[in-house]
Amino acid sequence: MKYIDEFRNSQVAKKLIENIQRKINPERKYNLMEFCGGHTHAIHRYGINQILPANIKLIHGPGCPVCVLPIPRIDQAIWLANQPDVILCSYADMLRVPGDKQDSLLKAKARGAQIQIVYSVLDALEIAKNQSDKMIIFFAIGFETTTPPTAHAILEAKKMGLDNFKVFCNHVLTPVAMTAILDDNEVNIDGFIGPSHVSIIVGSDAYREVAQEYQKPVVIAGFEPLDVLQSIEYLIDLINENKPDIINQYTRAVNPEGNLKAQEIIARVLEKRQQFSWRGLGQIAKSGLKIRQEYAHFDAEVYYNLPEFQSDDVKSCECPQILRGIKEPKDCKLFGKACTPENPMGACMVSSEGACAAAFQYSLISR
Ligand code: SF4
Ligand code: SF4
Repeated sequence: MKYIDEFRNSQVAKKLIENIQRKINPERKYNLMEFCGGHTHAIHRYGINQILPANIKLIHGPGCPVCVLPIPRIDQAIWLANQPDVILCSYADMLRVPGDKQDSLLKAKARGAQIQIVYSVLDALEIAKNQSDKMIIFFAIGFETTTPPTAHAILEAKKMGLDNFKVFCNHVLTPVAMTAILDDNEVNIDGFIGPSHVSIIVGSDAYREVAQEYQKPVVIAGFEPLDVLQSIEYLIDLINENKPDIINQYTRAVNPEGNLKAQEIIARVLEKRQQFSWRGLGQIAKSGLKIRQEYAHFDAEVYYNLPEFQSDDVKSCECPQILRGIKEPKDCKLFGKACTPENPMGACMVSSEGACAAAFQYSLISR
């Protein structure tokens, strides 16, 4: 484990914290948003939010794919799972996300719906190959990281003539969500800790609009504690110098143009929706992907003429405000009481990448 240890060295961490302490301007606040749920998890796990100077505020962003899916999309997944001869294939976390009136895929499964937990879209493809008498629907969620495998699976299904394979596509796009957050007047962000996995696909140049038009620096960071601390130091430098640049701290995996092959597969099979609704952020133009007409045969929304659902979040759940970065888990009166990872009332308590689940798991309620 030598490689990992190098990114967790306590002496280097101490030095980075000293650098940050020396560089901050005590007269001002630094509001830094970590967009990605993986960073939220790392920040809580290593107690990074506890050791930073008080005027650096880490704001959890909407970068957990489980958290950002709005309730009506969960209701649609439940509806699909209830169709005759369907096996809905889903990542485990999605089963516990509450839909309308606290219904969930887990409860639908208990009522008899055929729902199978998978680890990737390839598992769903395999089930479709082996069970030709069933309709296999893959519940596709996630940012740019998980999108190429979904597109690839649709191409494979077409090649194999797998008519019983469909995709319920909920893939969303990161850079456009960042600009939507910045368009919100209530949100006050000085810079972003940029996502790592997403950036491997889209490349560091994808944040040009955030940096140039919105004048906000972005530092793409790895997941290890030293990655995060070094990225915070870089952000402090950029904010102090008033330089809205993009810095790629995660050079061991991210390059400026991203993974061109993955981008090409996505573009071949999927296209931008006019609008897509995000939990907490509402409708954002061109922020979600749908399956192109050419591959509509594999689109569960088209094949089942999927009905629209209307439903609101639980009134006292603060997920929408947390996902916009204007509240923290501790601001929710249900946190750790009525809402726990065993009994989540909102999406942010379900996935370990969710802001509430991370805060609960490590018992470190953010400042
Ligand atoms: S997939 Fe990776 S980059 Fe995307 S939200 Fe999860 S941890 Fe972050
Ligand atoms: S603690 Fe639960 S109810 Fe409150 S905001 Fe988080 S997920 Fe929603």
